[in-house]
Amino acid sequence: MSHPLRSVAVFCGSRTGHGTAHVAAARALGTGLARQGLRLVYGGGGVGLMGEVAKAALAAGGEVHGVIPGFLLHAERPPPSGMTTLEVVPSMHARKTRMFELSDAFVALSGGLGTIDELVEILTWRQLGLHDKPVLALDIEGWAQPFMALVEAMIRQGFVSESGRRLFQLAGTVEQALALLRAAPLPDSAAPAARL
Ligand code: AMP
Repeated sequence: MSHPLRSVAVFCGSRTGHGTAHVAAARALGTGLARQGLRLVYGGGGVGLMGEVAKAALAAGGEVHGVIPGFLLHAERPPPSGMTTLEVVPSMHARKTRMFELSDAFVALSGGLGTIDELVEILTWRQLGLHDKPVLALDIEGWAQPFMALVEAMIRQGFVSESGRRLFQLAGTVEQALALLRAAPLPDSAAPAARL
């Protein structure tokens, strides 16, 4: 399928969360990205939703590029069956910079504090005009609702401009996220890593 984007970073939990919906969404996202011919860029782990997205993408014949700091190799255990590329970097900051460089768009799937950190950082970089790459938040089982409420509260209280709402799009389902990615233009600006 012809697609303007080449690579999509997925931020998601190193745990699977409760219930089955988050795991099902992670698998559907990995499969869907691979079927659309999109390379998955992710944190390189084999645990939690991270592992589910990566394994599903690989099983569907997709390309997977993991970026993991050396000190997390033990805790986040890259999938034993491997991935297309596993890059070991010296720090968390290097991981985020590298994932940014490798990706044309970002999807935040359910996760914990690390996922929120990655989502907020990529949004603040966009707010500062360092890039215009599409950012999506997937709202599985209401996961993104408290974040949306926080953004609205910050807009109401004058800490984020009204245009802050346009920094990212909310997708209610994996299918909707994939459709938004299909419709996204190739971003034309990205800061050199030295400015991040
Ligand atoms: P979590 O959502 O907390 O399960 O974490 C998801 C991923 O984000 C894991 O690969 C974590 O290693 C990673 N992570 C945690 N903290 C940070 C951080 N400060 N910056 C970047 N990634 C992080």
